[in-house]
Amino acid sequence: NEANLVEALTAVLPTFEGAFTLAVMDRTSLVGVRDRHGFRPLSIGKLGDGWVLASESAAFDIMGATFFRDVEPGEMVVIDDRGITSVQPFEPSPARMCLFEFVYFARPDSLIAGQNIHAARRHMGEALAAQAPATADVVVPVPESGIPAAQGYAAASGIPYRDGLVKNRYVGRTFIEPAQAMRDMGIHMKLNPLRQELNGKDVVLVDDSIVRGSTTRQLIRMVRDAGASAVHLRISSPPYRWPCFYGMDTGDRSTLLAADRSVEEIAEYLDVDSLAYLELDALLEATGAASDGFCTACLSGEYPTPIPNGDGKFALEET
Ligand code: SF4
Repeated sequence: NEANLVEALTAVLPTFEGAFTLAVMDRTSLVGVRDRHGFRPLSIGKLGDGWVLASESAAFDIMGATFFRDVEPGEMVVIDDRGITSVQPFEPSPARMCLFEFVYFARPDSLIAGQNIHAARRHMGEALAAQAPATADVVVPVPESGIPAAQGYAAASGIPYRDGLVKNRYVGRTFIEPAQAMRDMGIHMKLNPLRQELNGKDVVLVDDSIVRGSTTRQLIRMVRDAGASAVHLRISSPPYRWPCFYGMDTGDRSTLLAADRSVEEIAEYLDVDSLAYLELDALLEATGAASDGFCTACLSGEYPTPIPNGDGKFALEET
């Protein structure tokens, strides 16, 4: 029964470490949980007389529900015919929302921590233009996650924005495909250059992040082959140097392009005319959320939780 479900969760949740959100149902109640640090988002929506839970508020728009509020880090909400009851099954812990939800993971039409993701990404691009200006003819996004930052960069710099790469809408995200072979093939299946926008142009190419670098390197080659006379790469987050143990499939440290390379070495590897990453402080400010409430481990190496078994991505799953 309901009491047993809530009692069971209250008993077992304090033993869980790492990143998780749960939605659990029985006959009379719907229970939503965010881990003690709130690595991943979870929102409550109102749908007619009922309530719904979703990991992103954009899902509410699609189903005709309205955003009500976020489940807080470490909070368990019990939803039943009496309404919403808030329970605190964990010891109080500092909030550590994944910063990459703002950079890449969340949909641009979602609200997270009260902030619109698209607007936050535009602000990242504006900050990047101020921090790392370039002399160029066009600003071109890497679709789709680089689009808002490229719009921000173009608006702040006054350099015209152009769609120089076209996305094949039938192929998924290369970032989360598990096999390297799939990723190697992925860029050619995923993007096609628009030669008329690139040929003879000095291009500022804007992307949100570089993880392994293999797709970015192919992309630079593609832009040069389409006739670009210079490629200035601007990344709207800092170098991704440390593996994630909280649900992002980034592999171990040896696979990360920036793990042991300087920005100059990365620029040489990628064959770009210049390369700049957005500074961490500027990224945090661009989110519009409280800057001390984020996990930044993959960028800073400061992990919010102990990592028990070396640096394998399943370290926390194995405990
Ligand atoms: S390590 Fe990076 S990707 Fe993983 S939860 Fe922290 S900020 Fe997000």
